Amino acid sequence: MAAERNWARNLTYSAPIAHPASLEEACELVGRSARVHALGTRHSFSDCADGDGVLVALDRLPMDLEIDEQAATATVGAAVRMGDLGQALDARGWALANLASLPHISVGGAVATGTHGSGDRLGTMSSAVRALQIIGPDGALREVTGDEVAGSVVAMGALGIVTRLTLAIEPTYEIRQDAYLDLPWSAALDRFDEITAVGYSVSLFTRWRGPVERVLVKSRDTEPPDDLFGARPAGGRIGVAEIGVDTKNTEAGGVPGPWWDRLPHFRMAATPSVGEELQSEYLVPRATAKQALATVHEMADDLDAALHISEIRTMAADDLWLSGAYGTDAVSIQFTWRDLPDLVLPLLPRVEERLLPLGARPHWAKLFAASGVRLRDHYPRWNDFERLRDLRDPDRTFGNAFLEGVFGA
Ligand SMILES: Cc1cc2nc3c(=O)[nH]c(=O)nc-3n(C[C@H](O)[C@H](O)[C@H](O)COP(=O)(O)OP(=O)(O)OC[C@H]3O[C@@H](n4cnc5c(N)ncnc54)[C@H](O)[C@@H]3O)c2cc1C
Repeated sequence: MAAERNWARNLTYSAPIAHPASLEEACELVGRSARVHALGTRHSFSDCADGDGVLVALDRLPMDLEIDEQAATATVGAAVRMGDLGQALDARGWALANLASLPHISVGGAVATGTHGSGDRLGTMSSAVRALQIIGPDGALREVTGDEVAGSVVAMGALGIVTRLTLAIEPTYEIRQDAYLDLPWSAALDRFDEITAVGYSVSLFTRWRGPVERVLVKSRDTEPPDDLFGARPAGGRIGVAEIGVDTKNTEAGGVPGPWWDRLPHFRMAATPSVGEELQSEYLVPRATAKQALATVHEMADDLDAALHISEIRTMAADDLWLSGAYGTDAVSIQFTWRDLPDLVLPLLPRVEERLLPLGARPHWAKLFAASGVRLRDHYPRWNDFERLRDLRDPDRTFGNAFLEGVFGA
């Protein structure tokens, strides 16, 4: 069998991939495997989804959407893609609070790495999780509710194979997107808090040189501003900086549309982002965000040859132990790198040298250089997660090289 690769093709999986046809088959497979790890839609750049035994993709299991209107929750198969879930929820009058830039990713994979969109008052995708159903190392299913949820959501597959998730939902709504061009950097830094507050979800796209090229404002119940601190409205349909072309990007230009078709930047039917790329991302506490932006801005010339574009987003604090937004409102600084590992990889420790002292936490699904030893102090519940892992997977059935790099053996 040919070895299979991740979406970015920077990683060849070390293990064969199994696609069990039923929940029973998945449980039986896990129960008889010495090493097994969950795989979603393969959109991670890091090797968090790799393994040395067998990889389990639940993409043959049904979405099986159950809505509890009283509790305002939806329970759904972990392998469903965010975009498919969005349309299914909308058809029944419901919505999620936010989405990431691409709808192609699985719900299970997204929440396992702390995937997020943007919005000052919106949590990460992971923060929508209320309960999980997980296959443990013995192949038995367990329901995770209550206090253990906070430790089990952002877990990179370390605690088992998540089969179903219960997510917070709300009545469906519409969003409009408006783009603004050429925000002066001085305004981006001086008025950052006001800029990110102008819409339901705001993203800044920059190459760190010259002005901030695009600001994308997604509005829910408010009108977007005519002028954005010196940036001018772009009008019409517009791509996400150099990444975008019309067919790739969701509709902007102020046309309201369903939440699931406006909150992501990219359309389900198209290749998201550039396609030939690597990515890194760091979440910094809101309190140090301006310093973090200013210090990366100083690196503009060094980053230039390696960079397609950066996106800056915001998110509300959550209580998930390994989340980038644990205990603090956060600002994410993302890098869509050119597919040039020789240029990109040496830059990561240099970026981290500046951002880690400001409390940065890396996006687990993207490329980063820091070891777990360096990162553990950034997560107040790190030790609790290690204890939970010892309890739920004492023999490291779900271990892989990524987890060993982060947590040790
Ligand atoms: C073009 C592009 C754009 C992106 N945009 C964003 C963005 O806007 N915001 C953002 O935060 N991230 C973004 N990402 C990163 C992406 O959200 C993460 O890589 C996410 O984890 C991908 O989900 P996946 O289904 O592909 O999971 P995979 O990459 O297959 O797996 C990721 C992790 O989830 C675990 N996992 C998967 N399924 C399960 C399961 N059923 N049970 C237990 N663990 C499981 C895996 O073991 C692994 O640790 C982007 C990535 C790409 C390629």
